[in-house]
Amino acid sequence: MGVLDSAKAAFELAKKVGSIDLQKQLIEVQEKILELQQENSDLKEKIKKLEDLSELEKTIVADKNAYWKKTDEKKQEPYCTACFDSKKQLIRLHWYSSREGAKCPVCDAPVLFAEPRVHQQPFNLYDD
Ligand SMILES: [Zn+2]
Repeated sequence: MGVLDSAKAAFELAKKVGSIDLQKQLIEVQEKILELQQENSDLKEKIKKLEDLSELEKTIVADKNAYWKKTDEKKQEPYCTACFDSKKQLIRLHWYSSREGAKCPVCDAPVLFAEPRVHQQPFNLYDD
């Protein structure tokens, strides 16, 4: 018998003996039990999410301003550090066509994996 069933059984006994005060108290007890059961369920859900997150964190590694799955040895699929660090969401970045960088489709964070190419040397007045 669960704790709520016990409280209901006690309520029925209180009805039989005709104690209104006891019935009121047992109704409060039942309400508290329901609150605690809901809180317990919420906490279990929160623990499960934290355990899942902890397991996920073991499978990724940070490098070059992105997260990568440890199994992705050739580094083909980068994930957004901003989204993961702030919202614990693993969002796959979209590569630029040049493959020099990528962009997060959710937060728009740009990530460059290579140094930007210098197309033109700046003109220096004081050389020569
Ligand atoms: Zn992002």
